[in-house]
Amino acid sequence: MLNEPVSNVKGIGDKLQENFTEIGINTVEDLLFYFPNRYDIYEIKPLSELIHDDKVTIEGEVIGEPTLTFFGKKKSRLVVTLQVEHVVVKAVMFNRPFAKKQLQHGDTVTVTGKWNQHRLQITVSNYKKGQANSQAPIQPVYPQKGNVKNQQLKKIIRQAFLQYKNDIKEILPTSYLQEYKLPKRNEALFQMHFPTNNQTLKHARRRITYEEFLLFQLKMQWLRKRNREATQGNSQLFNQVNVDEFIKELPFTLTRAQLRSLKEILIDMRSSFHMNRLLQGDVGSGKTAVAAICLYASITAGKQGALMVPTEILAEQHYQSLKSLFTDRANVVLLTGSVKGKKRKEILELIKTNKADIIIGTHALIQEEVVFNNLGMAIVDEQHRFGVKQRRTLRDKGLNPDVLFMTATPIPRTLAITAFGDMDVSQIDEMPSGRKEVQTYWVKDNMLNRVLQFIQKEVDQGYQAYVICPLIEESDKLDIQNAVDLHQQLVSYFEPDIHVGLMHGRLHTTEKDEVMNKYANNELQVLVSTTVVEVGVNVPNATIMVIYDAERFGLSQLHQLRGRVGRGQVQSYCILLADPKSDVGKERMRIMTETTNGFELSEQDLQLRGPGDFFGKKQSGLPEFRVGDMVHDYRALETARNDAQEIIYANLLNNDKSYGNLKEMLNEEIEKGVTLD
Ligand code: ADP
Ligand code: MG
Repeated sequence: MLNEPVSNVKGIGDKLQENFTEIGINTVEDLLFYFPNRYDIYEIKPLSELIHDDKVTIEGEVIGEPTLTFFGKKKSRLVVTLQVEHVVVKAVMFNRPFAKKQLQHGDTVTVTGKWNQHRLQITVSNYKKGQANSQAPIQPVYPQKGNVKNQQLKKIIRQAFLQYKNDIKEILPTSYLQEYKLPKRNEALFQMHFPTNNQTLKHARRRITYEEFLLFQLKMQWLRKRNREATQGNSQLFNQVNVDEFIKELPFTLTRAQLRSLKEILIDMRSSFHMNRLLQGDVGSGKTAVAAICLYASITAGKQGALMVPTEILAEQHYQSLKSLFTDRANVVLLTGSVKGKKRKEILELIKTNKADIIIGTHALIQEEVVFNNLGMAIVDEQHRFGVKQRRTLRDKGLNPDVLFMTATPIPRTLAITAFGDMDVSQIDEMPSGRKEVQTYWVKDNMLNRVLQFIQKEVDQGYQAYVICPLIEESDKLDIQNAVDLHQQLVSYFEPDIHVGLMHGRLHTTEKDEVMNKYANNELQVLVSTTVVEVGVNVPNATIMVIYDAERFGLSQLHQLRGRVGRGQVQSYCILLADPKSDVGKERMRIMTETTNGFELSEQDLQLRGPGDFFGKKQSGLPEFRVGDMVHDYRALETARNDAQEIIYANLLNNDKSYGNLKEMLNEEIEKGVTLD
């Protein structure tokens, strides 16, 4: 059985077992699924096809006696002269003096190493007496972890296949193998470790990729179905008349996309299952307005609503705008880390006794001391900034609220179907009318003076500007210093006519509020800031966004920053100051100037950055696949998703015998713990 302890494989002693445990190999199955992270290809090519600086393998005959030179006590250099295809090639080996005796005139030897085309020389990393093994030109290289050596792994895995080959059960119905032309499970596994050739390796990868995608998507779809079927959820019987009145009183008419999303959300709220929905929409598309209506609906159903946002600035801003939207319709409270002492006690009490209707806050909301009385609706804004755990805690609070996640980072389809495969998705894919596209320019640093003149001109017309300093870590002192220095510089340029403010993460909340309020009231015309203003900040009178060292930001982040302007009726501008050295950097700048569509940008960003970086490290909640790559194997991912949907919704796992093994596997995986919620 594959779940036997790995020590049942012959040749594994106590020591090796310990080493295996250290790198996470406990069972035979773990071992078989411990895949190489690359392969060395020992394919002998003619000299004429070798490429300078590549790792190559050649085969030749030793001519004469190798020369050995020592330098220092332990260091040596051995030069072996080889004849390869009638050409004389030098093979250089460092610190292997013993090889001199092994390699005699006339011996055939196969060497692998870095090729120097100009000197006809190879710096040897590996050599073997005799001819190359044409049987196994592709050699697995396992991740170097712990104390397990590559050779050891190869040997043990080979042995494991001898003992357990028949225990590797096929889990896919035969029809899938035929349709997708996939090798059987045991064959694919073997080929992953010991590929016969490139072709068989490719098919093995395809098979394993599909399998892991399918299992993952099955879990997601299963969760989704289970979630929907959990009938003891909260039906929120809101008052449609009140909600309609509220909508009518808004200072604008909702867009069609807003109305459609709203309807989808309200249907979920009224139904008995717990809503688990993602609301996607570009910056400024009006998600917050939709959120406000939903929160209001919740109140009319007699419940509390919570809105969790990633920063204090944003919490404060939402608090102000929701308060003025709701007027006396609701008691809105703010709970952030900086609400302290008596005030905090008061607010906690209001929440607990159901006297607070709407609670807005940062992650302070999910701390233990916060006891909701009757939480019906939880909205998480800019959800990608929260860890999976945090999202879940909020969900677990109160009486299993309906949960709505909002994001302005348009998520590429490929990530959406992995990270949010178990969610329903609403999309606001339309901007409120009258918005002008932000014009984006990319200029070199030496154009700074013209940029400043441009700011001057806009400010003279009554508008405002942001100037963003790069910030990699919010706690990075150096970056704060950047902002402080830049602020000084702009103060001496603009003051006294134009007032320049400074904003960064290290400021006290009260200071932040003060600066933000002044900026919102146009007492400050220029705001120098780190990326703390990245999400959600709304000052419609600002028309210029200048971003310093723009090459240090990812596309999505640049897009977020750009979204701070263009929020009113007038033409706005985004100016990227950048001197990118790399092609990727230049490409980014070019894309920014050409694309204002967030979804398009996000697809391109994903291509440039890869899925791991997309949401930011660790926080992503993205699964780690062993073989499959969400970006490159996108088609497989989509196929797996569709197949999983069909399997779950047609209940094939229970209704069709050929899915028996798959069902068993899925059950095991689910028992191991479903971590995505
Ligand atoms: P998001 O949260 O998606 O970034 P907001 O809800 O903050 O967007 O909306 C951005 C701005 O547009 C706000 O000033 C808001 O009042 C306004 N707004 C929202 N919906 C509409 C609409 N349908 N028509 C006009 N303006 C709108
Ligand atoms: Mg928003």
